[in-house]
Amino acid sequence: MEINQPRIRSLMRQASRVEEAGKRAAAEQLYRQILDEAPETEEAWLGLGRMAVDPAAQAEAYERALELNPENKEAKVGLADLRGEPVPDAWRKEVEAARLPEPEPVVNKEVVAATATAVAPTDDHTEAYEFFCYRHPDRGTSLRCYNCHNPICASCTNKTSVGYLCPDCKRDLEDKFFNASATDYIIAALVSLPLSLIAGYLVWRLGGGFFFIFIMIFIGGAVGGLIGRLTKKAIGGRRGRYLPHLVLVMMVVGVVIPGLPILLMALAGSGGALFAFITPAVYLFVAGGSAFYWMK
Ligand SMILES: [Zn+2]
Ligand SMILES: [Zn+2]
Repeated sequence: MEINQPRIRSLMRQASRVEEAGKRAAAEQLYRQILDEAPETEEAWLGLGRMAVDPAAQAEAYERALELNPENKEAKVGLADLRGEPVPDAWRKEVEAARLPEPEPVVNKEVVAATATAVAPTDDHTEAYEFFCYRHPDRGTSLRCYNCHNPICASCTNKTSVGYLCPDCKRDLEDKFFNASATDYIIAALVSLPLSLIAGYLVWRLGGGFFFIFIMIFIGGAVGGLIGRLTKKAIGGRRGRYLPHLVLVMMVVGVVIPGLPILLMALAGSGGALFAFITPAVYLFVAGGSAFYWMK
């Protein structure tokens, strides 16, 4: 039977794809949706006959297909199988032959979407697309935002680990994610600077022995983690896009200020101080990384 409405045709394609993927419940739901809108769709009754989870619903679907077309072999075979009745082998072969995967073009979603931006879709092109981008109504696409389910074209997608996100949802999620206020930035600076200064002072006091360089790898991580966590706690656990950077800067300042005399001496060429820089450098590297991580 010829299916004339583009929407039903598109839904049928979707349903058969879901069916081929073995998602039975989803396929049943799609076929039911099609039949709600177009109860005369013989193919959809057959699909429901194959996919309905309840055998009674399967039988009813095949019966409806037979009402529409009393010669429908697949419905006859399906019904006979459900009732445990014998079926002529020839019928079964005929049904199998008809159900051999149609040479339906394998549509790579990303390729389709990419083409959508490059080629203005004509009527022929739109055939390949299921939806149109909600921000660019002239661009056909088969992509949807995983959050709001609106169709989006390739140039509107933001790829995330869970799927494509539309620009609106991306901004919403970022606003929700970065919830720190300007006050939080000030508090973070006021908390992390004194802590960093104390840690920096102690690091310079340690000096540059190999032993201290070695233990700094461990102590640095712990100290940086502590500074990060205390700062995070002081701002109520809120996140800011640049809060980790701010704390990192405070930690650099915390090392530089107590070390100024030594730094100035080194700059003045008093020499011999190079070794003294190794421990603070290792501290800054390890502790800074740790604090940055905790501030994220
Ligand atoms: Zn969205
Ligand atoms: Zn778009």
